[in-house]
Amino acid sequence: MIRVDLHLHTRFSGDSTISPKLIVEQLHSHPFIRAVAITDHNTLQGYMEAHRLASSYGDLKIIPGIEVSTNHGDIIILGVEEKPPHASTVWEAVDFAKGREGVIILPHPYRIGGVGDLAETLSADAIEVVNPTATRRENKMAQELARTRKLPGIAGSDAHTPAHMWTAYTEVNANSNISEILKAIRNGRVKPISRDAII
Ligand SMILES: [Zn+2]
Repeated sequence: MIRVDLHLHTRFSGDSTISPKLIVEQLHSHPFIRAVAITDHNTLQGYMEAHRLASSYGDLKIIPGIEVSTNHGDIIILGVEEKPPHASTVWEAVDFAKGREGVIILPHPYRIGGVGDLAETLSADAIEVVNPTATRRENKMAQELARTRKLPGIAGSDAHTPAHMWTAYTEVNANSNISEILKAIRNGRVKPISRDAII
């Protein structure tokens, strides 16, 4: 089992103060989180830099990710090292991800910036059911959605400042290989965890 923060923003997001270097250093020294997905808004630059820095720290796992802003709300794509050229609609972003075998996550579906009721029908591999920036009610609704859609529920800190890093994470029943982690997310071998017991 490996513990992974599946939603984290670097300063390349434009609205975060976290440097890729800080992520790599904190991940290296973290007592139990061993992997992170960098999910900047509409860019992979933060991932690229963290990935480059991580190589000098031994066995850190940096999962490529992107949080795509669409006209209908945000979606997260994991496992693809490319950004969608045209993703004004959420369906364009989903098609882009599917064409590249990316893992599609619907982050904070009922918070502002989420896809809202579209989450009931949109093609996805997992629902983010614990997000510390969403309200308890919004997280509960997301958990209910994951249950009714029979989709895996994951967690991530959605941190934009250093103090919020690692506040939520996912226990993934996989070894530390990134493709195994992504496969386990698709297969639902996951458990969302919140440090502050918001679930
Ligand atoms: Zn985010």
